[in-house]
Amino acid sequence: MSEVLGFEDTEGLDDGNAIGEMKGAPSGDKVRAPRPPRARNPFNPLKPAPNTQEFYDKIEDRFNHERDIRLAYRPEGRDQFIYDVGEELEKDPHAPEWTVREPYADHMEAICIGGGFSGLLAAARMRERGLTNIRIIDRGADVGGTWYWNRYPGIACDTPSYDYIPLLDELKYVPKSYFAQGPEIWEHCRKIAREYNLYEMAVFQTTVTKTHWDEGKKVWHVETDRGDKMTADYVVVANGTLSKPKLSRIAGMDKFQGHSFHTSRFDYEYTGQDLSGLKDKVVGIIGTGATAVQIISRVAAACKHLYVFQRTPSAIDIRDDGPTDPEWAADLKPGWQRERRMEHMKGAFITEEEKVEISKLPRDEKIRRQKNLNIEHMLRIHRRIEEVVEDPETAEVLKPWYMHRCKRPTFDDVFLPTFNRDNVTLVHTDGKGITEINEKGPVYDGTEFELDTLIYATGFAVQRTGIYNDIRGIGGLELNEKYKDGMRTVFGVHSQGYPNLFIMGGYQANFQFNLTFMLQTQAEYIADVVQYTRENGHKSIDPTDNTEQWWVDEVVKNRARTDRNKQCTPGYYNFEGEAQRNQDGNYNGSFEQYYQHMQTLKQGMTQFFNFG
Ligand code: NDP
Repeated sequence: MSEVLGFEDTEGLDDGNAIGEMKGAPSGDKVRAPRPPRARNPFNPLKPAPNTQEFYDKIEDRFNHERDIRLAYRPEGRDQFIYDVGEELEKDPHAPEWTVREPYADHMEAICIGGGFSGLLAAARMRERGLTNIRIIDRGADVGGTWYWNRYPGIACDTPSYDYIPLLDELKYVPKSYFAQGPEIWEHCRKIAREYNLYEMAVFQTTVTKTHWDEGKKVWHVETDRGDKMTADYVVVANGTLSKPKLSRIAGMDKFQGHSFHTSRFDYEYTGQDLSGLKDKVVGIIGTGATAVQIISRVAAACKHLYVFQRTPSAIDIRDDGPTDPEWAADLKPGWQRERRMEHMKGAFITEEEKVEISKLPRDEKIRRQKNLNIEHMLRIHRRIEEVVEDPETAEVLKPWYMHRCKRPTFDDVFLPTFNRDNVTLVHTDGKGITEINEKGPVYDGTEFELDTLIYATGFAVQRTGIYNDIRGIGGLELNEKYKDGMRTVFGVHSQGYPNLFIMGGYQANFQFNLTFMLQTQAEYIADVVQYTRENGHKSIDPTDNTEQWWVDEVVKNRARTDRNKQCTPGYYNFEGEAQRNQDGNYNGSFEQYYQHMQTLKQGMTQFFNFG
């Protein structure tokens, strides 16, 4: 069912966000009871697409053409970006105080490297299973990860908050609105840390630099940039999936004489909390991805003039946010959030009769029909732009010409109207992007755009395990060295030769549009495995060779089932258009399969793991 729909070949239509039919104007603040976790699939191939095949083929030709333009401009793939953006752009604007402390040299039952949702969830679940000494280590000055760092104006989640924010049931909290705002989510992260007593041993403003296994003592030696030399029985590598800011490699960037920063380090000291510091400023934003879509309207309303430098437009769907329906919230029964997750795992809703009918379709026919429905979806996105954006030329270049979900779909009701403002100029670079910046600002097509402020909304390094950190397992082999001929893991979580080490949010795990669905599943699995190991008197657990080989085979088997990756416009979903990377990507079996495989391994621990 999901073969042509999304991230790296496959992805069920699972976010609860895809709105099947065009709805009316946003409803203001009407209450919003969450839709059931299993939406009816608007991409059901039994539903006839209204146009001729020739019509869809022509649109696909345009998709291919737009992709080729972009690939030609950036043949270097992921190397087009700078991943070490420098201290100045990476420094923490939220915590100017640098806390002085003595280095630690103590022993923990578990260390979580990172205090975002991954680290918090793993720590919370291990705490529930009886671990007492758990330390979170984070570069930030508090927990929260993404929600600690990203505080730009307009920040909010773009998946339903009742599913996105974890541990709601446990903490007896129901989010205020359908799409929670950043500060509410960050506060929830802090609440998790308080409720599970995770602050007590946490260390902040600290970067783990070494994680080395001691096979004799069966412990991990963990060292940091603060001179700490700690040990731990278990280590959870929870450094996040999109946590390291990246910049496009643009000639002359360092010459710019105005003020610049990356979206994940939003500089309120410069702009003022209410952005009033921008009122006499000419601002430029490079990038139009999910982050920029949230920021642009807010900055436009506050600054003198805004230039938006666009390389590829985002697909902007209806947001239609609203406060949580209090009656629905009052009616929730214990276990409600887990039930939603389990229900979501089954995929989009299709009746038994429809399943039978779909199974009768030849594979190519099914794919063809789904593609056509995908195209219809994108045309609906185009029509909305035409309806909202007054200047036809601007409307035209805001249209995304790629298949649904080649890039992360966004949901926003104020982004498009922003382009009707007199103080906003869209600089569409037609796939080329900004390639030159001088003292005054970006230069495109011979025009120099003089700016006071330049905001980089150019995204993050993707799913990089162990950033800043040198991870060495049995025999001293560094983890990336082990991966050099292809990643080798079990569930993306274990890697053989790295006992008692668990990786969260990395490759070879399932990908979910709502990332926390996956993180919750991993955290529960990790905590169960740790509990089993401890309760059975073992000091270490490591997958067998066979188990690792089985998972690598399973990942490879489920990848490249269609050529969707090659068809998509470049972006981080398809490794910026690099050739299919076989085992170095996500597990494209279903989320339910991923979960079931975990249950199977937990039921046969001695068969699948070596214990020490
Ligand atoms: P992205 O990587 O998605 O977007 C980067 C943007 O910068 C793209 O539009 C890219 O264009 C553009 N760009 C890069 N180089 C240049 C250049 N030289 N000139 C012009 N444009 C350029 O990063 P984001 O920070 O927007 O989003 C990253 C992810 O963060 C999202 O996909 C999402 O997963 C997450 N996110 C989640 C939110 C949520 O609510 N849950 C909200 C915001 C972000 P091109 O497309 O051509 O590469």
